[in-house]
Amino acid sequence: MSDIKITRTTSSHRSEVDFENIPFGKIFTDHMFVATYDGDKWTDMEIIPFGNLTLHPAMLAIHYGQSIFEGMKAGISRDGDPILFRPEMHARRLNNSARRLCMPEFPEDMFIAALEGLLRLDHQWIPTKKGSSLYIRPFMFATDEFIGVRPSDTYKMIIFTQPVGPYYREPVKLLAEKKYIRAAMGGTGEAKAAGNYAGSLLPAKLAKEQGYDQVLWLDAREFKYIQEVGTMNIFFVIDDVVVTPATTGTILKGITRDTFIQVLRDEGYKVEERLLTIDEVEEAHRDGKLSEVFGAGTAAVVAKVSEIKHMDNVMKIDTEAFKVAPLLFDRIDALRNGVADDIHGWRHPVPVGAEV
Ligand SMILES: *Cc1c(COP(=O)(O)O)cnc(C)c1O
Repeated sequence: MSDIKITRTTSSHRSEVDFENIPFGKIFTDHMFVATYDGDKWTDMEIIPFGNLTLHPAMLAIHYGQSIFEGMKAGISRDGDPILFRPEMHARRLNNSARRLCMPEFPEDMFIAALEGLLRLDHQWIPTKKGSSLYIRPFMFATDEFIGVRPSDTYKMIIFTQPVGPYYREPVKLLAEKKYIRAAMGGTGEAKAAGNYAGSLLPAKLAKEQGYDQVLWLDAREFKYIQEVGTMNIFFVIDDVVVTPATTGTILKGITRDTFIQVLRDEGYKVEERLLTIDEVEEAHRDGKLSEVFGAGTAAVVAKVSEIKHMDNVMKIDTEAFKVAPLLFDRIDALRNGVADDIHGWRHPVPVGAEV
């Protein structure tokens, strides 16, 4: 477990970062974890100063897209210890993605050990302000130097981290997409694969040109069943019941989604995971029964939806009256930072006193 070689940076750039005003996605901490799959096993696990990679122009990931990732966050306890949130779920999902893309699994205990090692070295990078956190990006990609379609023999697994400020954002407007799809049954929609995002960029750009922030994806066959949003799963409150589409093969199984469902059930809400059509949402809206729509994902935690456009029907939703979404935001923030009871054992503290 502890055979991760550590090379510390000799020039931390932490003092150059304005923690009161962190630009999203642009700041990287001092270290990163790197491991190599040699065609047979994971080797050369190390934590090194954050820096550039050198790439062979024929590296398979670039040409044929064997590339998967995770996204998670660490908070900080009142005692100053980093807290990971459900890291084993991320490890398992990474391995589900790996299987779908013919990539090697990365052992769960190594994944956790890598995260712990990184957090111990860079714990001072975790912002302490409410709503802030350390974003963690684990990813794996094919590295064979070869032109021809086949699974790569060799891979890299890398984890880097980034401080992120409070993620306040305006409610979002969604355009229900009637031409393009994100995922079809049998495809890679359930994997957190880089390629899934590439295909979503054009429809997202076209939606922006119409004044919408993100696309609401519908099923590939009938353009009828609701799937999810760009980087988030989606929830509706209809007639006081919380409804979210069932993950039946095309939808990314969000860990925030899973957490929301459990927290809401704990709070006594009725939650349904089932097929949900855009028609049903339109009808609920017409009848005044649609009280909330919000997205669920690690980055924003919860994103209120103020408008959905489907064909010619523009549905406006009064986000000021939302009750469920703000409750979830507060519960998750309290869990992540160790101020709420952790009845499900979701928190994974990393005592920095154990630093060697
Ligand atoms: C990562 C992701 C989500 C959200 O998953 P979380 O585990 O909650 O962050 C939802 N949809 C897609 C397509 C994603 O890639």
